[in-house]
Amino acid sequence: MQDIFEACKKVQPDLINLWRDIVNIDTGTGYSKGLKQVGEIISEFCIRQGMQVERYPVNGPQSEFNICARRKGAGEKSILLLAHMDTVFPEGTAVERPFRTDSEWAYGPGVSDCKGGIVLALYAMEILKKFEISSYGHITCCFNCDEEISSPGSRDLIMELAKQHDYVLSLEPGQTNDGVVAWRKGVGKLKVEVHGKSSHAGSDPDNGCNALLELTHKINSMAGLADRDKQTTVTFTKAIAGDRLNVVTDFAEAWADVRVVYAEEFDRIESDARRLADASVIEGTNTVVTLTRGRPPFAPNEGTEMLIAQAEKIYAEIGRTLHKSGVGGASDANLAAAAGAIVLDSLGPVKGGPNHTADEKTRLESLVPRLYLLTRLIIELGNRDFNKNMLSFEKEVRG
Ligand SMILES: [Zn+2]
Repeated sequence: MQDIFEACKKVQPDLINLWRDIVNIDTGTGYSKGLKQVGEIISEFCIRQGMQVERYPVNGPQSEFNICARRKGAGEKSILLLAHMDTVFPEGTAVERPFRTDSEWAYGPGVSDCKGGIVLALYAMEILKKFEISSYGHITCCFNCDEEISSPGSRDLIMELAKQHDYVLSLEPGQTNDGVVAWRKGVGKLKVEVHGKSSHAGSDPDNGCNALLELTHKINSMAGLADRDKQTTVTFTKAIAGDRLNVVTDFAEAWADVRVVYAEEFDRIESDARRLADASVIEGTNTVVTLTRGRPPFAPNEGTEMLIAQAEKIYAEIGRTLHKSGVGGASDANLAAAAGAIVLDSLGPVKGGPNHTADEKTRLESLVPRLYLLTRLIIELGNRDFNKNMLSFEKEVRG
């Protein structure tokens, strides 16, 4: 174990160089040029590690691709690593504010989300090869190109891969308290459309059926569908109504961001919203609601708790304390969990400022510990004795 920790320390300068290279290439979702360049760098690295690299083209005009790099071992259990290549930043961002470090932090577009995770996966593979460790059945590293828009072109691939692997380790950034993520909320979108009748606001206000006024009632009642105990949130964030000051509007529309920890909460919200839609306050208005389900929830579960317990032990080997939390934001871990895999997320280097903003940053001091944690986790998860303990949980989780 000590020698693995030493190896993690030794590769840090190389890891930072590769990190700099890929942060300095813009990879906003849909920006094919940059995504291809970063995809090439990742592919070449994996080929040098003796891995089999396969590209999965993404449907659409952009001709981007997802990458899977595979290595076979001599053990039984299979492990899937997930990290995404795309960022939320447009072309030109990397030139504006390239990768840089100070004594504590690394900065740059996507430095934390998720390019730190990419380099961690790559160097874990290098260290495993260096020590000729093959305790696992096989490892697949999946690097996708559209996570930031909810993975439309990689969703099926990730769910299929998740079914084929025993454990999924997702390399989204570590939480600011040096934490991993034990569960993530699923995401939905509630659209509320109100149809009324227009009239002149000056000469004939009572003849109209005010869609805007009805919408305010609907927003008030439907916001109440949130459930604090279950951590379900219904947050109205957008609305449009009317275009002239002197006309009672016949149409108004609003959207709410919906987040749930438990999948059945989507069903409850859908049926309750329909019931509320039918009860009009302003006579003559008619309301239609639509709930669109995005990424499903990654609910708290015992399999994940076992992985966290193992990760805590490994972290303790180097004198560190691993924290855990649940978060409102979804990631590809949600897809893997919904496919029935045992998932642990946020194993990447520890983040600092808020991601998706210019203040994104990564704690440099976390690089070596997080690389050690990932490498050792892969070793332990492939280990037969450990998996004996997991067996009952797997039966429970997978049925
Ligand atoms: Zn991410």
